[in-house]
Amino acid sequence: MSKFYITTAIPYASQKPHIGNTYEAIFTDAVARYHKLLGDDVYFLTGADEHGEKIERAAEKAGVSPQEFVDGITAALRHDWDVCMVEYDDFIRTTEPRHKDIVKRIFKKLYDQGDIYKSAYEGWYCVPDEAFHTESQVKKTPGGNLCPNCGRPVEWLKEEAYFFRLSAYAGRLAAHIEANPGFIQPDSRKNEMINGYIKPGLQDFCVSRTSFKWGVPVEFDPGHVMYVWVDALSNYITALGYDPDRDHGELFEKYWPCDVHVLGKDVLRFHTLYWPGILMALGVPLPGQVFGHPWFLMGSDKMSKSLGNVIHAPELVEKYGADCTRYYVLREMPFARDGSITRELFVSRCNADLANDLGNLASRSITMAEKYFQGTVAPSAVPQNEVLDLCASSRIKYKDAMDKLAMQQAVTEAMAPVVRANRFIDETMPWALAKDPEKAEDLIRVLYTLLETLRCASVTLYPVMPLAMGKLRAQLGLPEVPVWTEPAPAGFTVKRGGNLFPRIVLDEGE
Ligand SMILES: [Zn+2]
Repeated sequence: MSKFYITTAIPYASQKPHIGNTYEAIFTDAVARYHKLLGDDVYFLTGADEHGEKIERAAEKAGVSPQEFVDGITAALRHDWDVCMVEYDDFIRTTEPRHKDIVKRIFKKLYDQGDIYKSAYEGWYCVPDEAFHTESQVKKTPGGNLCPNCGRPVEWLKEEAYFFRLSAYAGRLAAHIEANPGFIQPDSRKNEMINGYIKPGLQDFCVSRTSFKWGVPVEFDPGHVMYVWVDALSNYITALGYDPDRDHGELFEKYWPCDVHVLGKDVLRFHTLYWPGILMALGVPLPGQVFGHPWFLMGSDKMSKSLGNVIHAPELVEKYGADCTRYYVLREMPFARDGSITRELFVSRCNADLANDLGNLASRSITMAEKYFQGTVAPSAVPQNEVLDLCASSRIKYKDAMDKLAMQQAVTEAMAPVVRANRFIDETMPWALAKDPEKAEDLIRVLYTLLETLRCASVTLYPVMPLAMGKLRAQLGLPEVPVWTEPAPAGFTVKRGGNLFPRIVLDEGE
């Protein structure tokens, strides 16, 4: 049994999550469940980044304390994760003492050894993104300079600040990326990091601010609070009980280094350059992989509050269920390119794949098994045919795709035998076989093939749709939670249950 430590990025608790944030949690959960399926010892960490100027301002606007403000947002995050069946092992909040105490000592250690130094910062600052941009990065318009990330106005700021000496680690970092092709994925993102940041020369980055109060204080220099990077990024080790001065906790010893950090492509730079720099300075091994997932577009537009086209996962879950919501986002998000979501696409995808293909296969097969054999289908030998061959080959391709985090491809592979098995029903016409007593063994083999196809799908699709696949497995007479190595059973005793995937109807005006 190997250990597998996986994390989401910690969402910034300045606003309620939209489907893009929730997608990341669902994706990470599906990967974690896949590793549990394989029998790995999995640890899944998520949490919330609860400090910073933007939260301080949002709380002031809302007339509450920053702590009250983040309590509300984080409760909403956890609610979203829960309704989407995201089962994490720990949820770390950067305002918790267990995090702040260690982060203070990490900062002090880096300062004492010269990796953090005091200087002054000048630059174009985007308040909503909490990011400085250089003269060459900002978009110049007649109305003023705009943020290259979000397009909002930036302001010129100068202040005394502490910096992390990333430039000192540039050579080691470039060598690590070179020697470990899987470290940054997808490859297109890796090339962006190399060409956009490493080749032009890595700059030291700002790790403290004096312009706001809502953060972890720099104890040896009152007035300074930690700026996001050392504070937020350290969550991945503080949650495991890392300690810069003493023995680390059991969890850290067991699970670090992280196997995969899952995060949005917009924060990839901080996780593949800043975070490894900090870890190198601390003498802590680097994570195995940093995976930058693409974004969901609303049709072909960026989803944003100002466009009024934001979709929230709990609304989808409430109407269509957690399984359909998870299936849609995992099936529709490509590996590297952005995905698209609209209510029309959602309904047509779920009806085609789940209600028609998978749901129909299950109800037709189980109904026939009950009708012709009182539910028990046990052939004299496991049949061999094209459908079962496809189950075997798809399973290999599915595993290969999952191991690469190519979720869309994995889901497509998992569904291939289901689609084939529906055609198999039309080809073999079991209702005709049932009329001829001499064809009884043929009929048993056909039904076994259908039920075995469903069992295979209930294994591969379990990480995607744990609720529905658990129900399907119960109808197939199998334990609700599958294991990857479970053998094809000699026979099935099935019991029809409720409809797994009722057809979805788009309401008027949606
Ligand atoms: Zn911005």
